[in-house]
Amino acid sequence: MIISQLLQSAVQLNHLSDTARLDCELLLCYLLNVDRTYLKTRPDRELTEAVQEQFQQLLERRIAGEPVAYLIGTQGFWTLDLKVSPDTLIPRPETELLVETALELELPEQSKVLDLGTGTGAIALALATEQSRWRVSAVELMPGAVELAKVNCQHCQLENVEIFQSHWFAEIALQQFDLIVSNPPYIETDDAHLTQGDVRFEPASALVSGPQGLDDLRLLIAQSVDYLADGGWLMVEHGYQQGAAVRELFEQAGFGLVETRLDLNSLERITLGRYSLPPAH
Ligand code: GLN
Repeated sequence: MIISQLLQSAVQLNHLSDTARLDCELLLCYLLNVDRTYLKTRPDRELTEAVQEQFQQLLERRIAGEPVAYLIGTQGFWTLDLKVSPDTLIPRPETELLVETALELELPEQSKVLDLGTGTGAIALALATEQSRWRVSAVELMPGAVELAKVNCQHCQLENVEIFQSHWFAEIALQQFDLIVSNPPYIETDDAHLTQGDVRFEPASALVSGPQGLDDLRLLIAQSVDYLADGGWLMVEHGYQQGAAVRELFEQAGFGLVETRLDLNSLERITLGRYSLPPAH
């Protein structure tokens, strides 16, 4: 069998995945250790029995619902190729909006930045890659994810990032950051979409946050004011129906210039605000 014939297996995924063809290409690239351009330029390459068999096994796991990123162990995010494992959420394209928005802010050249619940390290590493003079701290609760983020950091050869275990602010020494970012868990405990698609394979601790999905957002918005410099920014990702509630939490905590940005599907996805110290008496 040749590459183009094997990729016709994508039809078996059509009813399960919006990206059936891409999924199959990524699985085959992983097995052949080539990039997608290779598949396009060598569609007539003959495949060994062993590769065909391995492909079949991966395809069956994909048909059973496992996310491609877990099958191949990596996910592209921003300009990076990140290792992923079932210890962490798979980085989403929506989260690139958070990176993009953070890079547009007017911030000191040598900003101190904090990423809460970094998972694979996606946000922290993307920011550190773009701004080599920023010093980025990234914390994460799950030990498996902390290790993974450190491996990703080493692969990116970044010297301006430190990663350690902490439950939100618990282990962070009191200090002032110019920017705090987070993609926390924000799904409602009984949200029906938790039983569908890729999220079934992702850790609940990275997805679910109380009856309204706001438990962690509430905590980190309230606590971040103690860790922000005067004029510092907080930026969080949230569910598309949580914009108004999140803006209110920002305002209650004393943030100004509170604003929500829409993702590529025109859904409210990122809220940011600026913290100014209350005037001295
Ligand atoms: N956006 C993700 C989803 O809906 C959830 C990510 C999160 O909870 N931080 O699948």
